[in-house]
Amino acid sequence: MGEPTAFRCVSCGETFDPWAVEYTCPSCGPLKGTLEVLYDYRALARRLTPKTFAETQQHSLWRYEELLPVGREHAVNLRAGYTPLYACRTLAIELGLRGLWIKDDSLNPTASYKDRATAITTGAARKLGRAACSCASTGNAATSLAGFCASAGMPCFIFVPGTAPRPKLAQLKAFGAVVFAVDGTYDQAFDLCAEASTKFDWFNRSAAVNPMNVEGKKTGALELWEQLRGELPDYVVVSVGDGSVIAGLCKGFQELVEIELADRMPAVFGVQAEGAPAVAHAFTRHTQGQPIVPAEEPAQTLADSISVGHPRDVVKAVRYVADTGGGFVTVSDAEIAESGQELARRVGVFAEPAAAASYAGLLRLLDAGDVPPDARVAVFITGSGLKDPESMLHGLPAPTKIPPELEALEEHLDL
Ligand SMILES: *Cc1c(COP(=O)(O)O)cnc(C)c1O
Ligand SMILES: [Zn+2]
Repeated sequence: MGEPTAFRCVSCGETFDPWAVEYTCPSCGPLKGTLEVLYDYRALARRLTPKTFAETQQHSLWRYEELLPVGREHAVNLRAGYTPLYACRTLAIELGLRGLWIKDDSLNPTASYKDRATAITTGAARKLGRAACSCASTGNAATSLAGFCASAGMPCFIFVPGTAPRPKLAQLKAFGAVVFAVDGTYDQAFDLCAEASTKFDWFNRSAAVNPMNVEGKKTGALELWEQLRGELPDYVVVSVGDGSVIAGLCKGFQELVEIELADRMPAVFGVQAEGAPAVAHAFTRHTQGQPIVPAEEPAQTLADSISVGHPRDVVKAVRYVADTGGGFVTVSDAEIAESGQELARRVGVFAEPAAAASYAGLLRLLDAGDVPPDARVAVFITGSGLKDPESMLHGLPAPTKIPPELEALEEHLDL
């Protein structure tokens, strides 16, 4: 296991002994004071080789145990990570790219990238001897936590705003989570969850405030490196809501460089919906030399998993993305819907709208010349279309009605 050396505040830089502060920096508060987990990279560089991970023979994110804050003796018995990477040769040629890879993280146990974070967070809860976990979310994070807690036999308390859509609650409830619909906004649900977690000693998995989440989320970068045999792509594209997934990916690439297993990072680009652009706007302000203020903005998009008005990991996301030489792009709901269908039709990967947004972002980046032709690009698909299949149907033809006869079929077959 990779023993952390410190937890450091991303805003003021103050360092704490590992686990001495569990959530956020007391001086900077929950929005700005998210913590980074640090390791002894020099020692790791000496010890780790390109083969270290394969030698563990773990077919899950626990193969990266050496770079994780929790050992696999605390792992919950659900497989997260080790998802497939598809080389899309024909599509790459059509787009003028030298290489295009789709990393399909819809194939996690509860069908989203969130399971990477939850695997580490629930492992940490066990390591710390916590009896229960909690989370404020209406979507994939809550479902993921509920699934891992079910497997661990651990109680799970979920706080959702009173307006949460019913279908989103189905998977959650099936896993046996205790769900509270808070008569108020998402922010109020978030605060109540934090308060209750302190009072009842639950381990709080809510976005960004728990530094274990990003530790899990970085494993997507490590896998990409391993699956491409150490040849990282030039560009990585992923969709962004709170900013934790992209922060995790950037941290993973950064650590690969620190431990001398990679000589450079890819430029990482975040994709947001035009109707929910808070992190993209913060990035623009940052490039103009203004402070990264976690401002509240409107959030209105069909891509519900990235419909975030008050992003919680904005400081990390903006700073880390800038360090990679990447940036942000926004896409319309129409582009997201079209991209979801194109991914399904051309690659065979059925993505939820928030996940298809990343592919829409790649097309925009190519159009704008921000990703040059001839580049090698990896696109992360962060959630499954099976979560909300209705949203994928728009504009697709209905089935052709025929009698049960071969002649009738032949009339309609265009062979
Ligand atoms: C949560 C989520 C994202 C964005 O992750 P953040 O950490 O909120 O930026 C993207 N896609 C899907 C499917 C998600 O569930
Ligand atoms: Zn601080």
